[in-house]
Amino acid sequence: MTDLLGFDTQLSERQYPGSALDILQTTFGHKAFRGQQAEIVSHVVDGGDAIVLMPTGGGKSMCYQIPALCRDGVGVVVSPLIALMHDQVTALRQLGIRAAALNSSLTDEERLAVRADLRAGRLDLIYVAPERLMLPSFLEFLDGARIALFAIDEAHCVSQWGHDFRPEYMKLEVLGERFPGVPRIALTATADPQTQQDIRRRLRLDDARMFLASFDRPNIRYAITLKDEPRRQLLSFISGAHKGESGIVYCLSRAKVEDTAAWLCTQGIESLPYHAGLDAGVRRRNQDAFLKADGLVLVATIAFGMGIDKPDIRFVAHLDLPASLEAFYQETGRAGRDGLPAETLLLYGMQDLVLRRSMIEDGEAPGDVKRVEHAKLEALLGVCETAGCRRQALLSHFGETLPEPCGNCDGCLDPVETFDGTVAAQKAISAAVRTGQRFGVGHLVDVLLGVKNEKTERQGHDMLPTFGIGKDFDRKEWSSIFRQLVVLGVMEVAHDSYGALRATEAARPILRGERQVRLRRDKPSVIKRALKGLTKVRASDPASTLAPATALIFEALRAERGRLAREQGVPPYVIFHDSTLIALAMRQPRSLGDLTDIPGMGQKKMERYGAAVLAVLAGGAA
Ligand code: ADP
Ligand code: ZN
Repeated sequence: MTDLLGFDTQLSERQYPGSALDILQTTFGHKAFRGQQAEIVSHVVDGGDAIVLMPTGGGKSMCYQIPALCRDGVGVVVSPLIALMHDQVTALRQLGIRAAALNSSLTDEERLAVRADLRAGRLDLIYVAPERLMLPSFLEFLDGARIALFAIDEAHCVSQWGHDFRPEYMKLEVLGERFPGVPRIALTATADPQTQQDIRRRLRLDDARMFLASFDRPNIRYAITLKDEPRRQLLSFISGAHKGESGIVYCLSRAKVEDTAAWLCTQGIESLPYHAGLDAGVRRRNQDAFLKADGLVLVATIAFGMGIDKPDIRFVAHLDLPASLEAFYQETGRAGRDGLPAETLLLYGMQDLVLRRSMIEDGEAPGDVKRVEHAKLEALLGVCETAGCRRQALLSHFGETLPEPCGNCDGCLDPVETFDGTVAAQKAISAAVRTGQRFGVGHLVDVLLGVKNEKTERQGHDMLPTFGIGKDFDRKEWSSIFRQLVVLGVMEVAHDSYGALRATEAARPILRGERQVRLRRDKPSVIKRALKGLTKVRASDPASTLAPATALIFEALRAERGRLAREQGVPPYVIFHDSTLIALAMRQPRSLGDLTDIPGMGQKKMERYGAAVLAVLAGGAA
């Protein structure tokens, strides 16, 4: 029988053993709860409301899926994106869980079938879009159903502060009153306090218990580097450590997305573009290819990513500066959901800074919102310019303290040199002041280097005392110094001209010699070394750490997984995650009984794929 989502599962009888831990082990194939999962699950099983803030990959789904299976009735999951629902339902069915989705992509007939299953109590979990859930007819329908819980996924969509605001989410406030006694659990990976407050207030979760996990993603390595030759840098990042792996490359503009994707293809890296300007069909096709293929690169604007559940994204690169640390964390957070090592790279330069500032200024937002946006950009730049551990700086922005440097970022692995930049700063500031605070970085550097050209001569700047006093640094070093001074707030980029730099109040004590400035020394040679250093110590490709013989078995299992996935038209990771394949390759179980110890090998998967896996392992040993 083919069902509404086009796969072949027959809705089976409910078959879950009682306790939450049993379900975790038998159905999901995980040994133990992680972090706060056990506490959250038991709180919700007991009927309590909860707000769960956990980073991507933290294991949020388990927090409502298991209670939904433990409690009587169907778990209703509100989810904003059809692609996301589809993915989750596919994965759940692989586990033998009776899940379905209701959304606008279904035909009337399919919708009726889901409703019939719902009415007959044949569903454990149903995923619905908020606008469908809130239809009066659907609410009435639910009045007659037995509901285990409401899970509100991506709950930050209720907040106007975030970038994913969905007005329909506001209507969910009625659920508590309409279905008293049914626990509600709101989940998100967005942690800022304003969003937290909005979730509690707008969803009327006044008495909900808050579960706030650490936002650290220890398996993600961060590197932030000056833009030098961005394409070359990107290529060496991908081909050095990530060849054949799945990754996302973010660019600001649609044109750049297309150019970059096309260029990567010419360099032998299979890539597809994704942005809001593409035809909807093409967009869907490219996204689908990315989800289903092993090792495709998606070059995208930020239009791509929300609700992307692909667990084995091994790298995320930013060719342009994101809008804020929140955006940066969310975008990089898509890497390594499966907990295996992943790597991120952010390239930025003075131009990014100028561009981002003018985007804010030219935007339609009211003045106070613009001020917030500027402040968010500053916070991001602060992390870019830090000479210490990136992770410490990042987490401290989210209100967490990491006591020791992480040892897994460019700041830790290849510390930057700093130097006393007071005199350099004085020279840079006076170049701007003496030329009337009207010129951009290019001209100011010309003045400092003593370059005689049409512009310096016409302006009479070759006669200034600052002319040629900066020959101890080269052009790149000077632009780095100017950029750092802007980030430090010593200079600012005028919003109303072509990136003119001017000194701020904070420049005075420096000019007077009352304040010292420490600067990073980012020469291009250092940048290259940083990238090489990362390549050398990386362990990103999970299979690369395996012994050669084991790696061969891993590849054979991967091929078998690909075959099984294609057969059913599902992404390979819903069959098995890489971590399951690695455990199989390393332990080489010989019988079905031995398979129970393999992480991710639940009862149903063992029944379905156990024989195929054992056959591959037997073949590998021969
Ligand atoms: P989130 O929704 O928070 O981003 P998921 O629920 O998708 O995270 O879980 C991320 C990954 O962690 C998944 O691959 C999931 O199978 C795995 N996972 C979740 N809980 C556990 C656990 N207790 N033990 C082992 N793996 C787990
Ligand atoms: Zn670090």
